[in-house]
Amino acid sequence: MAVIEIKQVAKTFGSFTALHSVDLTIADQEFMVLLGASGCGKTTLLRIIAGLETPTTGEVWIGGRRVDHLPPRERGIAMVFQNYAVFPHLTVFENIAFGLRMKKMDQAEVTRRVNRTAELMHIEQLLKRYSGELSGGQRQRVAVARALAMEPDVILMDEPLSNLDALLRLEMRAELKGVLAESKTTTIYVTHDQVEAMSLADRISVMNGGRIVQAANPVEVYRNPAARFVGSFIGNPPMNFLKAEPAGAGKWQVAGQVFDGPAAAAAEFAIRPEDLHPAEAGLPAEVRVVEPLGPHTLITASVAGQPFRAVLESNLLPAPGDMLRLAPVPDRIRWFDPATQSAL
Ligand code: ATP
Repeated sequence: MAVIEIKQVAKTFGSFTALHSVDLTIADQEFMVLLGASGCGKTTLLRIIAGLETPTTGEVWIGGRRVDHLPPRERGIAMVFQNYAVFPHLTVFENIAFGLRMKKMDQAEVTRRVNRTAELMHIEQLLKRYSGELSGGQRQRVAVARALAMEPDVILMDEPLSNLDALLRLEMRAELKGVLAESKTTTIYVTHDQVEAMSLADRISVMNGGRIVQAANPVEVYRNPAARFVGSFIGNPPMNFLKAEPAGAGKWQVAGQVFDGPAAAAAEFAIRPEDLHPAEAGLPAEVRVVEPLGPHTLITASVAGQPFRAVLESNLLPAPGDMLRLAPVPDRIRWFDPATQSAL
């Protein structure tokens, strides 16, 4: 059982706080993605779990054992990092076999595991090549294969697909998801790519400024952001936010329209761009830019002087300057507290 527990882990670099008391439990065999913008602390958290960085305070437990004082090799984990250390003077075969040889595994098992993982990562034709002769994307796949070959209980990955072109990335993403589910590994995977996060994760931990803002399954994170930041970070285009004025008990006026909302002193209205449709009555939107994207039309507009986007059916092609009425799907409306930025 490789449950990973992060207990009140904080990290400061001089006067800078990279992580503020993070608490997170990753279940056995769970695929957890750490998602956030550059500098939010994802890599620092992963490096602390790996043992490449010591936490300033807090504890890390893996499989019921406290590991934060142990060196990386004693933590029972395999890692794939951005600067994947593939040895250029070794062949691809020997690179993948490296950790297995350290464990003094017999040759037949080494060969079996190397061939299997090389096949999974589509590099079986490269096994005899020297790694120094490979492209960045090929080296990256060697690094992933080397980690998988260890058949670890826990695997930590930091942007392992970042050097692949779009098509290969898509293919490897599906491949990885299958392999890791099958191998029953507990995975922590760092990325700033939200599509990758949504597609791979059992749960996503959305990070901002050294904190985990929400940890939940991808649909929940998308549909019910726990904080304004999550709605504004996830989704392309992201959630729309509009000012709301109180209009009686549980009623709010938004761009001249009245909506049912929370019983609160102040609130901000939010709706995803795809949860809108043209209607007789709705939010008044002055169209600024129209982008026909194939499957749908992306509208950039202004609603009561505030920026607003809508994703509409592809046969709807308004012109810049048009006034549209856009009705939100009622059960998709969300509300946030303007002071705390938390969901209401
Ligand atoms: P990216 O996606 O760009 O890798 P990240 O979310 O992984 O970003 P971290 O690498 O964890 O971010 O860095 C978090 C913050 O801590 C950044 O502001 C970074 O500058 C700072 N930081 C990281 N390592 C150190 C260090 N060794 N010394 C000082 N500051 C550091």
